[in-house]
Amino acid sequence: MAQNKMTIRKGDTVKVISGKDRGKTGKVLRSVPEKSRVVVEKVNLAKKAMRPTQQNPQGGITTIEAPIHVSNVMLVCPSCGEATRVARRREDGKLVRVCKKCGKDIPAAE
Ligand SMILES: [Zn+2]
Repeated sequence: MAQNKMTIRKGDTVKVISGKDRGKTGKVLRSVPEKSRVVVEKVNLAKKAMRPTQQNPQGGITTIEAPIHVSNVMLVCPSCGEATRVARRREDGKLVRVCKKCGKDIPAAE
């Protein structure tokens, strides 16, 4: 799949539509376009064993957000608040995302 298929970016709010966290919404903390995945706040939490470091000399188990595939989330439109598919149009040489529900532009959060 082409990398430019990613319509979800860091700072967006997304809704999870499949998997164990279905129905949750959260903010995108990080996107991994080469893997078509995103890391969403409080979604797909996984326990991870940490090696002891200087900052955390004990090591131990911590909980982190594991990346989930973008096909498992939908963008939540900031204008209408609905989870929506996204259309794109070109304006001044830039791709602008457009909500398919309300037709408003969806600005990149960051
Ligand atoms: Zn909308």
